[in-house]
Amino acid sequence: MRWDHLRLAEDAAAPDLPLIERRAVARTFDTPEFRGMTFYEVHAKTIINRVPAASRVPFEWTVNPYRGCSHACVYCFARKTHEYLDLDAGADFDSRIVVKVNAAERVRAELSAPRWRGAPIAMGTNVDCYQRAEGRYRLMPGILAALRDAANPFSILTKGSLILRDLPLLREANERTRVSTAVSVGFADASLWRLVEPGTPSPHRRLEVCAALNGAGVRCGVLMAPVLPYLADSPAQLEEAVRRIAAAGATSVTPIPLHLRPGAREWFLAWLRRHRPDLVVPYARLYGGGAYAPKEYQDGIVAQVRDLAAKYGIADPPHRDVPPAPPPPPGPHQLSLL
Ligand code: SF4
Repeated sequence: MRWDHLRLAEDAAAPDLPLIERRAVARTFDTPEFRGMTFYEVHAKTIINRVPAASRVPFEWTVNPYRGCSHACVYCFARKTHEYLDLDAGADFDSRIVVKVNAAERVRAELSAPRWRGAPIAMGTNVDCYQRAEGRYRLMPGILAALRDAANPFSILTKGSLILRDLPLLREANERTRVSTAVSVGFADASLWRLVEPGTPSPHRRLEVCAALNGAGVRCGVLMAPVLPYLADSPAQLEEAVRRIAAAGATSVTPIPLHLRPGAREWFLAWLRRHRPDLVVPYARLYGGGAYAPKEYQDGIVAQVRDLAAKYGIADPPHRDVPPAPPPPPGPHQLSLL
């Protein structure tokens, strides 16, 4: 998604101007939660977007009400997409958030268009739709209400506990159509969490969210992503994570080893140099300058998690939904949950 999709109608004559000059309304809030952050309020021309066929992801349609993500995960591979907006993939991605303020209105309009065929819609596929901004902008309730009213199947992947705010809407939608959710929890280690996912609720809190969703009858699995080589991939660490995931009642667990695509790669390796310089060489050896760990490594993680899932009684065995070498877009949450 580039600014072309976000541009206000009156900006049509100035497509190449940088962000602020496109008349996006820039807003800051002087509260501790949003200090240092800028929100760019824009009106999307379209909101239900088709994933390019070349992406080879198992979903076709997405809705993404935000660009950039205050959850600020150092490994996030949606970072690269911020560069398409004339912003950088590092601190700007974490603190300069594009908000499509008309998202709910557009979803409702596009779902009712004669050409729309009711295909499943995936949310959280690029950046987190329940990041902190959602607490203020409240775009998701309108989106969920539109999906509920159209009985259109959908999935949500998130690290945000804010999803529980919308539990009544999720339950209503779940009575009319196929709804599935997943939380992303790559590891259970709280000290690692503070370093690599500084803006997110803790893994423990995310698993409480998973339990609450399942307890309310809304199916919720766990995307165990990313599994971080040398940081969170020992047999003991994998077992602790899967044990906790099972205890939360997750309906499935799907592991994905870390990807280091351009954009995320630079940011993650800079973090590694600062915090774990001892791992710079092992990472260079494992990734060999590419974006993916070797197939043997990935298969080994999947096999271990599969065995652990069986041991702890998680119903759906792990499987690899994502082919090993897709092109960069869309974002960090690339599994269909439907
Ligand atoms: S990985 Fe997900 S939650 Fe983390 S910064 Fe990226 S989009 Fe946000």
